[in-house]
Amino acid sequence: MKNEDLQLLAQYVEQAQRVVVFTGAGCSTEAGLPDFRSPGGWWKQINPEEIANPGAMAANYPLFHEFYSHRVNAVHGVAPHRGHEVLAAWERLGKVRCVVTQNVDGLHQAAGNQDVVELHGTIRRFRCHQCQGEVGEALFLAGVECPHCGATEKLRPNIVMFTEMLPQEAWLRAGEEVRAADLLIVIGSSLKVSPANQLPNMCQGKKVFINAEYVSGCETLFDFFIEGRAGEVLGAVHEIMGGE
Ligand code: NAD
Repeated sequence: MKNEDLQLLAQYVEQAQRVVVFTGAGCSTEAGLPDFRSPGGWWKQINPEEIANPGAMAANYPLFHEFYSHRVNAVHGVAPHRGHEVLAAWERLGKVRCVVTQNVDGLHQAAGNQDVVELHGTIRRFRCHQCQGEVGEALFLAGVECPHCGATEKLRPNIVMFTEMLPQEAWLRAGEEVRAADLLIVIGSSLKVSPANQLPNMCQGKKVFINAEYVSGCETLFDFFIEGRAGEVLGAVHEIMGGE
């Protein structure tokens, strides 16, 4: 990461009135949660898109359940990192209006952000795929039948799986906030998952992209790109701004 880019981002944040942050799985890897696009990190070498969809749930619930039990257990004891803390500090300072996230891990809220728009739901709550009744984590992990309707192999995390619709309220709010933002900071996303990857197109303000690797086409979509890790970049920018 180049020092002049960090300085420029600090200047953008200081000058902006309405910052919206849009995060992806790469914003959580420094907390110890793997993202989806780093092949080495794939659970059992299976592409998550092949398990994280309703068809796969119906076809092979034991595999689906094992995959999500693994992911549910992975968020236990995971704590926000420096980048999450900086975003929470920027919200307290009145800089960050809201965080729109594709992440389901709840780490932005754990760091202290009050206004988090969860586009893909949360892996910290659970429901029945058939009757929509809410259930607790212990019942999901136990793999039992639904206590509300009795359906078997239907309990699931309250997340948005591939091929499913985004929650309308969250999607509309995200669009409104991004359209009204004078600075959009996108952090740790391959920008491959639709429709969330359309959000940067909606912003009329300045747009900055922080990612560990170059994502093709990002130079046309953003004012500039900072190649680096979320926690390191945000920590350095916060320091330039005189934050602790
Ligand atoms: P992705 O896995 O497709 O892409 C992550 C991007 O982040 C990659 O380009 C990677 O190079 C980059 N990255 C990795 N570590 C980084 C770091 N420390 N700092 C900056 N960038 C880093 O993620 P996506 O675009 O969010 O799409 C994946 C989908 O999977 C989403 O729908 C999301 O809901 C879900 N998911 C969520 C979590 C989570 O909640 N923690 C984890 C995995 C996947």
